[in-house]
Amino acid sequence: MRPNSLHAADLAHMVHQQTDLGAHGEDGAVLIKRGDGCRVFDTEGREYIEAMAGLWCASLGFSEKRLAEAAYRQLLELPYYHTFFQKGHEPSVRLAEKLAAIAPPGKEGGGLNHVLFQCSGSEANDAAIKLIWYYNNVIGRPAKKKLIGRMRGYHGNTVATASLSGQPHMQADFDLPLGDRFLQVSNPNYYRFGQDGETEEAFSARMAAELEALIEREGGETIAAFFAEPVQGGGGAITPPRGYFEAIQPILKRHDILFVADEVICGFGRTGNLWGCETYGIQPDMLTAAKQLTAAYQPLSALLISDPIHAALLEGSRRNGSFGHGFTYGGHPVACAVALETLAIYEERDLLGHVRAVAPAFLDGLGALRGHPLVGDVRGVGLIAGVELVADKASKAPFPAAAKVGLLVQDKCQEAGLIVRAIGDRIAFTPPLIITAAEIGEMCRRFQAGLDAAWAALQ
Ligand code: PLP
Repeated sequence: MRPNSLHAADLAHMVHQQTDLGAHGEDGAVLIKRGDGCRVFDTEGREYIEAMAGLWCASLGFSEKRLAEAAYRQLLELPYYHTFFQKGHEPSVRLAEKLAAIAPPGKEGGGLNHVLFQCSGSEANDAAIKLIWYYNNVIGRPAKKKLIGRMRGYHGNTVATASLSGQPHMQADFDLPLGDRFLQVSNPNYYRFGQDGETEEAFSARMAAELEALIEREGGETIAAFFAEPVQGGGGAITPPRGYFEAIQPILKRHDILFVADEVICGFGRTGNLWGCETYGIQPDMLTAAKQLTAAYQPLSALLISDPIHAALLEGSRRNGSFGHGFTYGGHPVACAVALETLAIYEERDLLGHVRAVAPAFLDGLGALRGHPLVGDVRGVGLIAGVELVADKASKAPFPAAAKVGLLVQDKCQEAGLIVRAIGDRIAFTPPLIITAAEIGEMCRRFQAGLDAAWAALQ
């Protein structure tokens, strides 16, 4: 490595996020220089198909000029304003109006008519947690505070959202989870945790029974909310088993427990419908969205809430003199302008129609690799899929974690010009929503090359 080079400066000064810092110290980082459609190019000129859309977010790829122009126009007109103290600005109002109009139906078909803006998915879920506690205090249920997440669920990296997430490595040595308000139920990965002879529906019923037993053990009067991603992203792109959300929702209703749909990955077309809630028949009380809201060209997230929850905010504001919550950059006008342009592009180009048209090529192309000696399972919906690697296909025996086979496949894919993400021994795919059938074919060929190279290295 040359002294004074970009890579040397990176090693000397950058603390990379969610990174094996030891490996970074030895190997350095791939520094991405530019993007074009579904492809990115690193500082050495190497080209990659970005089959993760960055972090499940660059839905329109890496070179959508209209979004750059929307940001520039807004920067010239009003580069910053806030929404504190009864002030505001047009882009955030128009975006809130739009999101309320396109939101999925909430519980009992009620609307999700009110929107709070933040900068990240973590902040949206963190705000949801705060509002749930606030809501239950205001309506006179101060004991109803516990939150249920799921193993391998991911809702963010703040103190509260990392506590809620089922990601042990994001809690270890951070003194998390904080307090005793965070509960977990099992991960609904049917391939991995379904028992011999158990149907998907029976597995879902078992997951639901586990949830109900937990609620009864803790006391329903202490449990405020259940958080779930329609498709678990950070857990390894895990689609729910058939009947899962149908089995879970009546239990939550019976115990008057709110359902928070974390649509940070699924929202805006990823599953082939605008919302994962539509794909899986979820009627939430709150919904969080980010990532594809701006196609990742600006940091922005939204928390959508039902009328009853909004009524409690109003009541709490009266009681306390104001609604004491907000972020300096929440609802930033440039981010909101980019979000409005993103949503306009989705509609004008019928991106949902495109996702539905190419999804079979995506799912069949990856599915065709089921015969590969390393592949135990391939499952997905729309343009999100997870491939589970196994040491033995017949018994589904996993590799020992220490063998880091997922990372080996990820590295071999990278050498083959494909960026995917290994989550343990699951390989996640969430390409930009604009990916074409031809690019999907190329993506699958590069994945096969990566798998073959990993297999050869393991012999
Ligand atoms: N929720 C889900 C489902 C996510 O996948 C993520 C990030 O990947 C988050 C929340 C956190 O979002 P952010 O990284 O923008 O804070």
